[in-house]
Amino acid sequence: MTKKIPFAKISISNKEKELVNEVLESGWLTTGSKTLEFERKFSEYINAPFACAVNSCTAALHLGLEALGIKPGDKVFVPSMTFTASAEVVRYLDADPIFLDTEYQTNLITPEILLDAIEKNPGVKAIVIVHFAGQAVRMNEIKEICSKNGLKIMEDAAHAFPTKYDGKYIGNFGDVTCFSFYANKTITTGEGGMLVTSDEEIYKRVKVMRLHGINRDIWDRFTSDKPSWEYDVVEAGYKYNMPDICAAVGLGQLDNAEVFRKERQKVIEIYYDKLSSLTELDLPICHDAIENHSWHLFPIVLNEKANITRNDFITKMSELGIGTSVHYKPIHRMTYYKKKYNLDEKDFPNAEKTWKGNVTLPLYPYMNKEDVLYVCEKIKLILNL
Ligand SMILES: *Cc1c(COP(=O)(O)O)cnc(C)c1O
Repeated sequence: MTKKIPFAKISISNKEKELVNEVLESGWLTTGSKTLEFERKFSEYINAPFACAVNSCTAALHLGLEALGIKPGDKVFVPSMTFTASAEVVRYLDADPIFLDTEYQTNLITPEILLDAIEKNPGVKAIVIVHFAGQAVRMNEIKEICSKNGLKIMEDAAHAFPTKYDGKYIGNFGDVTCFSFYANKTITTGEGGMLVTSDEEIYKRVKVMRLHGINRDIWDRFTSDKPSWEYDVVEAGYKYNMPDICAAVGLGQLDNAEVFRKERQKVIEIYYDKLSSLTELDLPICHDAIENHSWHLFPIVLNEKANITRNDFITKMSELGIGTSVHYKPIHRMTYYKKKYNLDEKDFPNAEKTWKGNVTLPLYPYMNKEDVLYVCEKIKLILNL
């Protein structure tokens, strides 16, 4: 029988099932006590003052840029090598993304790239930082550059829980940090996200905008003993709150976040061990200690020495029962952005070099060692080694 190795696989324990059952039996399914508890425990976990749970990371990114005061016509730096959500939220506010190339083999924005971009594009208001695959950008240097140049920082940490940098968890560096609990992220709520900040004003703004621009939570209306029918609307807000059913799943997942991370690390250690010597592959470079990395993804690049295209490689892997993915087709190649901003591939040499051969290998907690070895063997087979 041929093997079936998925690209990603979630781990759900009895804890999540019990917590979801509690919610179902409580009669309160939308935002309530479980969401509050999830926010509290998440902010305690990363040791950041304020956390606001929402129904996606995309929602968190939208709320974050809005709270940072991004207005129509403003310019925001965004890496090209990321998921489209990092850029679309800039357009939601009628602002314009300025796309940046990233370092080869990490897909991270570096201080050098940012300094160069600031010189070429004066007056940019903010930057979206992506901790690609779960490795932290060099935030201390980036923060210094941003504060000198009046740039606000929003971190897209969709891959980066739990990721550490300079002894602290990601979530303690930029003005706003956004996490994702989408189905295939490091911990999941099915769909969900979390916005984290240390700025109380941003937190208050996000809480209001998260739920219709209402000046107090619906949750408060039904639980406080003050007269509860009256509320005011102070802005045309959004509908971005997290339901308690999702928060219940998140609470169970949170308990295992570090176990999951260590489990993924075991897998990538085998990948490095078995694949490092293959000159046809450029493996991800880990700049920091291996345990500071969340290891959400393991993206490799088939370089010019490989005797096969990326697309054929993916087909062959699939025929052998191995699921893979591509992170990412860079945004400067996407029709909408390419046309609207007249983007030229020549301005993104590292993203282009990556895009020619990028494939992401299967990676999830409790992946069998034999399965990891099978993936490595088949890669060698496909490359004729
Ligand atoms: C998954 C992802 C998002 C969006 O997360 P959702 O929770 O699905 O909205 C944003 N940015 C990056 C880099 C992602 O990988």
